[in-house]
Amino acid sequence: MCSMKKEKISIVVPCYNEEESLPIFYQEITKIAKEMKKVDFEFLFINDGSKDNTLSILKRLSKKDERVRFISFSRNFGKEGGMYAGLENATGDYVAIMDADMQDPPEMIKIMYHDIKEQGYDCVALCSPKHKNYGILRRFLTSCWYKIIGKISSTPQVPGAREFRLMKRKMVNAILSMKEYNRYSKGIFSFVGFNTKWIEYEAPDRVAGKSKYSIIKLFKYAFEGILAFSTTPLVISAIIGIIFCLIAFIAIIVIIIKTLIFGDPVGGWPSLACMIIFVSGVQLFFLGVIGMYMSKLYLEVKKRPIYITSETEKDKEND
Ligand code: UDP
Ligand code: MG
Repeated sequence: MCSMKKEKISIVVPCYNEEESLPIFYQEITKIAKEMKKVDFEFLFINDGSKDNTLSILKRLSKKDERVRFISFSRNFGKEGGMYAGLENATGDYVAIMDADMQDPPEMIKIMYHDIKEQGYDCVALCSPKHKNYGILRRFLTSCWYKIIGKISSTPQVPGAREFRLMKRKMVNAILSMKEYNRYSKGIFSFVGFNTKWIEYEAPDRVAGKSKYSIIKLFKYAFEGILAFSTTPLVISAIIGIIFCLIAFIAIIVIIIKTLIFGDPVGGWPSLACMIIFVSGVQLFFLGVIGMYMSKLYLEVKKRPIYITSETEKDKEND
């Protein structure tokens, strides 16, 4: 009777202080679930250490709707931790990752599921390359970042890629097999491969609340992406090291010849001082680059957990 069994889609939603958006999101996603009669749904919310009423809303929803599950973290671990926990605990044949703020329109799930079923894709993902709803600075920095990562990483990144996607179970398992601590999911999705269809759309503004990413947090995230999926900065430091050695070598020969012809070996102290400062600056800079990779290595070796669960919908105390 296996063929009679309905397929299940798990919707994974990382939530950090989303008390305002959650009720709207739940209302909209359940509407879509109702329309998609041929599939079962599971809504897996990850409460990423929210300080507002997110957890109590999730508890309430899980009591009234048995499709709603939640995992509540012991503190804020970041969206990456939330997505990992969601993928690890989702039980569906297909898994979608969605933001709680309605920037990922729930009706897209229908199209995504259709394309996977009918067109044979393993994953249907959305990209919003124009980022119209972000400020000029964020838009400019984001487009620069995509250009840089495109050049220095062998893992291709689709400009404006969002985490919003519906994936087959085999892709989810591949993502879960990458157990790295410093997670950069957009890179991981691309690294695991599989036949992915990209749909371009204009991401709407978040429905309520504020973006959880400050410019500083975004910079950290961007560096995370480069460190996780490119070793080019290390190669650049090595190349610049070689160039400086060559320059020094030529300078030595020039100075020797000049001294032999004109005498005066002690001239040019100011330029020497400038050179020393410049070269030691370059050295410190690249020592820093190496240090960044080392720090990632250090955290990776420690094998700390990616997230820590405090409670779930199964816990007795929720009753
Ligand atoms: N989020 C999270 N943990 C965090 C930050 C964000 O789980 O530490 C969630 C957030 O609740 C939302 C999603 O990640 O569902 C995307 O966050 P946001 O909308 O603030 O990011 P933006 O759309 O501005 O990039
Ligand atoms: Mg958002």
